[in-house]
Amino acid sequence: MSVVCEMLALVGCILDPAVVPPHTDAKTWARFCAKTVVTSDHVIWVAGLSDGYGTFYDERFRDVDLELLNHKPTLTATRWHYTAWNGPIEQRQRIMHRCELPICVRLDHLEPGTQQANIKTAAAHDRLVRRRGRVRVDRADVRGAAAQSRAVRFAVLEAVNSGVTDPTALSLVVAAAVALGDPDALSAQAPLFLLTW
Ligand SMILES: [Zn+2]
Repeated sequence: MSVVCEMLALVGCILDPAVVPPHTDAKTWARFCAKTVVTSDHVIWVAGLSDGYGTFYDERFRDVDLELLNHKPTLTATRWHYTAWNGPIEQRQRIMHRCELPICVRLDHLEPGTQQANIKTAAAHDRLVRRRGRVRVDRADVRGAAAQSRAVRFAVLEAVNSGVTDPTALSLVVAAAVALGDPDALSAQAPLFLLTW
């Protein structure tokens, strides 16, 4: 592997099964990597989803919050990925997205924060669904996070299965799948037909 590739792997821009994070083992890391597709923007989770977030099974995973809840060994892929590189996150911290794409697990798009901070950021970026009268006044995906993630996963898998491997091309596939739920794009569409009489 080239030095540049190794550096990219270490900051989480690409996922390389050969560059194992310090807080997991090679076998679990290889299993995690196999469930991702790297694009030039995001790293897309193409396995199990729950409420729009990737889920990953690791019975050896330990985390103070999850231990308190007597958790099952399935957790969000983002929490697992962040912890694999950085060690356990603090109590009552969640993993938030800088990139606003719940299905993304790219390491430098993730940061720990409280649920309050998460809601605050979403509100600041107009990602919370709000209604004034019967008109939506937000920028959240019109399909909701779960349906958005399913659409992105479907589009990426379809592209990969038809032989697309170029990260830039895959990035365009993700952007197109996301754009289908963009409320601005929908309202900007030309009407299907005009009534004239
Ligand atoms: Zn991302």
